Amino acid sequence: MTAQLIDGAALARQKIADLKQRVAALQAKGVTPGLATVLVGDDPASRVYIRNKARACAEAGVNSIHHDLLATASEQDVLDLIERLDNDPKVHGIIVQLPLPRHLDAQCVSQSVAYEKDVDGFSWHNLGALMENAPGIVPCTPRATMALLEHAKISIEGRHAVVVGRSVIVGKPAALLLINAGATVTVCNSRTPDLGAMTRQADILVVATGRANLITRDMVKPGAAVIDVGINRLHNGKLAGDVVFDEVKEVAGWITPVPGGVGPMTVAMLVENTVNAAARLVSQQ
Ligand code: NDP
Repeated sequence: MTAQLIDGAALARQKIADLKQRVAALQAKGVTPGLATVLVGDDPASRVYIRNKARACAEAGVNSIHHDLLATASEQDVLDLIERLDNDPKVHGIIVQLPLPRHLDAQCVSQSVAYEKDVDGFSWHNLGALMENAPGIVPCTPRATMALLEHAKISIEGRHAVVVGRSVIVGKPAALLLINAGATVTVCNSRTPDLGAMTRQADILVVATGRANLITRDMVKPGAAVIDVGINRLHNGKLAGDVVFDEVKEVAGWITPVPGGVGPMTVAMLVENTVNAAARLVSQQ
């Protein structure tokens, strides 16, 4: 069996084209959605992510404003910048690119972003809303995961979903979204004794570990939908996910590639979260 490819790059292009129309409608009401991006230091991978986000914003007509801070910036410097952005009416979304330099408290910095502008969805307000299945801003990568499943018309209710990884950015919110959608969910981590015994039960398998080649063919139930969130830079310079794509595609029912799967959809979801934040402001005026 050969799995159907879930083409995240194509779906992201479609999403950005749809958003462009929503942005035009907002501009007609005098509001251009604005995303502020903050990078502390000069991590090369972070710079690539920021560039991709700025490009997607430009394609959708969203105004993106980038702020660079030196790697030596103090926590107060970062908090002062975020306070300025929190109070800037032209800014509807704020992201602080992670990871931050070690001397900074990432949790303190993330929680300082006003929850209405927290388009990463990492604030406790927004994560709490997700827990309650109430309206709020949902983290971009888990949203991308759900959008890819929906696009492939994979039913979730009543299915067994296994999420490998329990980070606050991906694993936990992805598990909550799947729970809210009616799946029975198992969440695995690095201490799970027999990972294969868990993943083989999955109708839907979401893998977010940052461990290249972790998921092999024998760990996947025939016909399962496999969403590979991982992004790993191999020794040869190429990007790979956490799933051994060439093997697993022979057994899975659906599979996302890396690159070209969850990554581009994550960026599209960030743009959508920003447009939604601007639209909420317009509706309150
Ligand atoms: P973290 O390092 O924060 O979390 C990784 C998780 O994987 C942890 O919960 C860890 O378990 C678990 N894990 C690690 N090794 C194993 C193992 N051998 N078996 C089972 N579980 C394991 O990473 P993130 O969640 O931030 O990111 C995960 C991956 O997703 C990375 O490759 C990252 O680059 C990628 N990513 C991709 C995005 C995209 O847009 N496509 C966006 C965000 C992230 P434990 O808690 O026990 O340590």
